[in-house]
Amino acid sequence: MTDLPLTLEERRPLGRSLRRGLRGRCPACGKGALFRAYLKVVDHCQACGEDLSHQRADDAPAYFTIAIVGHFIVAGVLASEWIAPDSPFWIPALIWSALALASSLILLPRIKGLLIGLQWANRMHGFGGVEKAL
Ligand SMILES: [Zn+2]
Repeated sequence: MTDLPLTLEERRPLGRSLRRGLRGRCPACGKGALFRAYLKVVDHCQACGEDLSHQRADDAPAYFTIAIVGHFIVAGVLASEWIAPDSPFWIPALIWSALALASSLILLPRIKGLLIGLQWANRMHGFGGVEKAL
């Protein structure tokens, strides 16, 4: 197999893989769980046996989570200053800190799943194995 670009026969459905990864499901079959712990990816899918140990999301999920949450939180903090300029400092600090933490914890595994789905669909990092009939 050659590197990119992939031929039509070699391509896997990108949108379907992204959606399955976003839901924390195996990008190949959509049935098996992608994670065995909060961010620990299973070595093999329990449903179809797809080898998922090839994933190399590394720091990308954290990077994208920080970028998304950061924009959302900074806009909210600035809006708070504009909406309630006389409120004590600790009220918006407490609210936006809690929202930043909660949204980061919610987004991080979803973004990691999305990136693994992207890698699987593009046959990156050893995901280029033999196609299974599903
Ligand atoms: Zn699977």
